[in-house]
Formats: sequence, structure tokens, C-alpha cells
Amino acid sequence: MNETTGETMNSMEIIPTNEQVGGTFLAPAITVDEAVAIYNQKNQFVQRILKENFDFGKIPGSSKPSLLKPGAEKLCSFFGLRPSFEITNSIEDWMGTEHGGEPLFSYSVKCHLYRNGQPVGSADASCNSWEVKYRYRQAQRICPTCGATAIIKGKEEYGGGWLCFPKKGGCGAKFIDADPSITNQKWGMEKNPDVADLVNTILKMAEKRALVAAVLVTTGASEWFTQDIEEFQNNASPEKEAFVEKLQQITLEQAKQFKTDKGKSFSEMTADQLEFIIQKTKSAQKKKAAEILLDDMLSRPLEAPDVDTDFDQTFGKQA
Ligand SMILES: [Zn+2]
Repeated sequence: MNETTGETMNSMEIIPTNEQVGGTFLAPAITVDEAVAIYNQKNQFVQRILKENFDFGKIPGSSKPSLLKPGAEKLCSFFGLRPSFEITNSIEDWMGTEHGGEPLFSYSVKCHLYRNGQPVGSADASCNSWEVKYRYRQAQRICPTCGATAIIKGKEEYGGGWLCFPKKGGCGAKFIDADPSITNQKWGMEKNPDVADLVNTILKMAEKRALVAAVLVTTGASEWFTQDIEEFQNNASPEKEAFVEKLQQITLEQAKQFKTDKGKSFSEMTADQLEFIIQKTKSAQKKKAAEILLDDMLSRPLEAPDVDTDFDQTFGKQA
């Protein structure tokens, strides 16, 4: 029984045809003129009906735009296709008892496309809660005054510290750099504690991926489009999982060894410089290292400058 549509689904049957002649020669089903006419119709549809950034999206570095769900649905209407989804495999481990204490939700979905009740194509896709974008989340600092997740680092020219930023929905409250109600908060990437809330999202994502894949192969739209690359970049792979695990394991000492592109050591950075790196760097490792150092810096009480001077004089060191 199919949970999504309520229909009973069987795996695709191979329907014998009369097209094979002598078992070695496959005759074309249509003439070249017909093929050209169909191609032109499809091309017209793509050019005139489908809208960029809604039905399809261009991703930098990719030669073809990615077909998005609305575009796939329009192609279904155009070709008279009715999609139907079948869950072919699922894992629903709410408590994580089978997965080292971490909940796991995983769905494999087959999208069948029917035309006039006849199956004309299908494709499989999956989605699971251990994919990076579902498994982790960015822990946000919460305003101790109003509870909004709108805390930003105050600019030095306005006295530094922390600000509950009104443009992000905050209350405008200010806090000093070392305020423990801010600095004691967890910050950075953390495992998502509410992953069970995403079960429906994960199933819908698997269906969306299967629909797009099925439409691409069935309608020949891969001439113009590719699968939504962004979705697949976020897809879990052992390499990506290992990379994220490794990021989580960067120690404070390792973080200090990082250097900027210009060769400046992370260990010499001010909080503002670290904040800048966190916002600007394209390297996930550098970002993580800067977060670790900033967290460490903010978790220590501020030292008065003359303490350092005394220390240096006592031990005969240069700052
Ligand atoms: Zn606030």
C-alpha cells in the first residue's frame, strides 16, 4: 500500500511490444520529422512557459540550470503525466536506539509517472536526517532580555560588546563583551536537537527529488535541465559526513595553527578579526577554527592591559 497516494503499487512491468524485428533491429517509433516537431514544441515550452528562479535555477559553475519542483510540475501538466509516490524503504528511529543514540529518519521514494493510466517512467531518490543541512544547525545566541535570536557583535566604533539587533527583530539591548549571559551560550554548529520535527520535510524532500528525476528522464527535459544540484550537494555522502565529523573535532590548539591567506596566524587575531573571518571565509575549516578561538576568547574574563605588561616585565618577554 502506498502511504502517499493510497494506491497499490507494483514494481514496473516490462511490457512486450511489437517493435522488435527479428530481435536485432529496433525500428524507430516516430519519424525524424515528428521528432523534430516534438523537440521544437518542448523547446518552445521551456523558453516561453518556464520561468527562471521559479521553475528552474542557475547554479554558478553548472553548465545547465537545475529543474525545480514547480518546473517539474508544469512539465507534468504539459505532457499529461500524473505522478504517484511509493515509499520503497524507510527508517524511523525516533530514539536513535539503533543508531548510537542519534535519531535517524530516512526515506527512499520511487516516483512513478502515469499517462492515461499507463506507467511511462519512474525514478528513485532518497533523503535522510543525517544529511548535513538537517543533522546540524547553527546555534544562535539568544538575547537574555527579549529572547530573540538577534545577537550580533557590536561594532568597535560604537563601543563593541553585543547588540540585540533591531533589524533582526531584536530589542536593541546592549551587553558588554564579557557578559556571561551571552558568552556562556553555546555557539556554532551543533547537532539539531529537534530532528524529529523534520520527518515530514525529509519525506517531502525525497519525493521532490524523485519527481524531478522522473520528469527529467521521462520527458527528455535533461536536454535543458539537470537535477537540482544544490539538493544533491547537501546530500549525505560518507566523505561529507567524515568531513563534518572532522570539523567537529578541531581542538583549540589546532585552531591556533590556522593562518589567513596572507599568512597571519589565527592565534594573533582580535575578536573582530575572527568574527570577520567567520562571516567571510569560504573554508569550512577556517570558519570552524575561528569560531572555536572566538568562543574561547569570549569565555575568558577580559584582562586589563596592564596585567599583560606586568607579566612581560617579570619574565623579560616582549609582547
Ligand atoms: Zn533583545
